[in-house]
Amino acid sequence: MDNKKKWMIPLGMWVIFEIVAITLWLTKNNIFYLLNFSYIGTSIALGLFLFQRNYRHARKIVQLMVGLYMLIYLGLICQENMQIEGFWYYLFTGVFEAATIHYAVAKIFGPLIFGQGWCGYACWTAMVLDFLPYKTSQTSRKKIGFIRYITFAVSLIFVVALFLSQVGNIEKIMFWAFIIGNILYYAVGIILAFAFKDNRAFCKYICPITVFLKPMSYFSLLRVKCDKEKCVSCGKCKQVCPMDVDVTDNSRKRENGTECILCMECVKACPKKAL
Ligand code: SF4
Ligand code: SF4
Ligand code: SF4
Repeated sequence: MDNKKKWMIPLGMWVIFEIVAITLWLTKNNIFYLLNFSYIGTSIALGLFLFQRNYRHARKIVQLMVGLYMLIYLGLICQENMQIEGFWYYLFTGVFEAATIHYAVAKIFGPLIFGQGWCGYACWTAMVLDFLPYKTSQTSRKKIGFIRYITFAVSLIFVVALFLSQVGNIEKIMFWAFIIGNILYYAVGIILAFAFKDNRAFCKYICPITVFLKPMSYFSLLRVKCDKEKCVSCGKCKQVCPMDVDVTDNSRKRENGTECILCMECVKACPKKAL
C-alpha cells in the first residue's frame, strides 16, 4: 500500500465520524455528540493508522479506548443503558438520544458501510473476551446460532413487560439491567469461550445484537477482498480468522461473511499479499 493510501483510510474514517459528530451536534444542539463521536472517530482512526504501521496491538488499543469509554463513562457514570434493552427502552419512550443514536450508527445503518467493524474495534464485551486464550476457534462451528434470536426476544419482552407493568423508577431499573446484563454477558461469554475453545463463541451464537448486524453487514461497503491472481490457496487466512470467514470467496455469500469483524488478521497472515 502506498503512503498516500495509508493516510487516506484513517483520515477517511475520521472524516465520516466527524460528519456524524457535527451533524448530530448541530441538529440536536448538544455538544455531547460532537465530543462523543469525535473521540470514537479519533480512536478508530488512530488504530487504523497504527495498524498500517504494523503495530501489533493496534486493534486492542482501539478496543480499550472505545470499549472502556462506553462501559465506564457512558454506562456507569452517565448511567445510559447502552445494551440492547436500553435501545428498546429509549426507542419506546421516543427518546432519540445516546443509546438509540449509538445503535443507529454502530449497529443498524453503520454496518452498511463498515460491516461488523463495531465488533472488531469497539464492543466492550469482546474487548474482554479477546484477552482469552482461543483467538481462533479450536472446534468446529456449532448449530446453535438460533440462541441469538431467543436472547433478542428476551431483551424485547423484558422492556415491554416493564412498560406494561407500569413500574415506577424505570430509569433505575434500566441502570441495574445494564450492570446485571453486562455481568451475565461476561460470565456466559467466558464460560462459552473455554467450553468451545473459541473466544468469539458468544458473538457467534448468543449475542442478540447480531440480529441487526448480520443482515446489514451482508451489504457492507468495506470488505476484505481476495486477488485470485495472487492467491495460492494456502488456507492461512482461514486459519487465523476468529470468525471462520472464507475470505478467499469474493461473493457476498462467502461462508460466515456477515460476521467479518474487519480485524485484518487474514491480511497480515497472507504470504502473497492477496488480500
Ligand atoms: S457480536 Fe455482540 S458481543 Fe460480539 S463483538 Fe459484536 S456486539 Fe459485541
Ligand atoms: S480475519 Fe479477515 S475475514 Fe476474518 S474477521 Fe478478520 S478481517 Fe474478517
Ligand atoms: S492466505 Fe492469501 S494466498 Fe493463502 S489462501 Fe488466503 S488469500 Fe490465498
